[in-house]
Amino acid sequence: MENNQVMKEKVIAKLPSPERRRKGPYALIECFQKIPCNPCYTSCKFGAVKEFNDINDLPEIDYDKCTGCGLCQAVCPGLAIFVIDETYSNEKSLIKIPYEYLPVPSVGDIVKGYDRDGNHVSDVEVKQVRKFKNNTHLVNVAVEKKLEHDLRGIAVRTESRDGEWKPESNKLGECIVCRCEDISMEEIKNQIALGKTTVKEIKLATRGSMGPCQGKTCLPIILKELSKATGKSIEELESPNYRQPIKPVKIGKLVD
Ligand code: SF4
Ligand code: SF4
Repeated sequence: MENNQVMKEKVIAKLPSPERRRKGPYALIECFQKIPCNPCYTSCKFGAVKEFNDINDLPEIDYDKCTGCGLCQAVCPGLAIFVIDETYSNEKSLIKIPYEYLPVPSVGDIVKGYDRDGNHVSDVEVKQVRKFKNNTHLVNVAVEKKLEHDLRGIAVRTESRDGEWKPESNKLGECIVCRCEDISMEEIKNQIALGKTTVKEIKLATRGSMGPCQGKTCLPIILKELSKATGKSIEELESPNYRQPIKPVKIGKLVD
């Protein structure tokens, strides 16, 4: 997986014109490898995602048509789409972030903001939360303009008395780590308690990271839990190769 700086440079190279950015929200698609996937194209009611000639095509946006509605974000299995509104205020931009964890933040909450590498970049305020039928939420956060192409994830946490950041919910069975395979934090912690010390062992026991997103969201969490349990740094732990998100397609589509 490419690091934050490399991804940021690729994203900046795809930005719409300054005139378009001054008009309102626009979608940015951070999907740079050819994979058989197209819900962004099929979900856009405005025809803003250009037609795919091949299921492996990379998505391209027609910014004259994109309204920044976020429909494509809610169905993207790779959580690879972000909507940026640079017109929000002079100091801050509004970013729509696809969010698939518990607890779901509320308007007014201050949440932790992270870059693509999982580094904390800022605490940010939640301005709007919208739930979709598939249980994906779009969380709007106000972000300093200089961070609008860095901040790409949030976490809802409260500070305990000893100053350590801890999840708000202690219902680990309800905290889903792997949405593709429906694996909870409780299952991950149970496997570690049973003696699993590598991602591969947890993967074989739970199927974590084997779903359509191929570990995009769950692998960093599993690595963090293993790091806490083993005392090894995340770099020392053996991490499997990241693969591209996948989505089942009908055989007929492949022969079209
Ligand atoms: S944000 Fe809305 S209009 Fe823009 S590409 Fe996505 S679905 Fe289409
Ligand atoms: S991963 Fe997301 S952005 Fe990429 S092709 Fe699939 S739906 Fe579109």
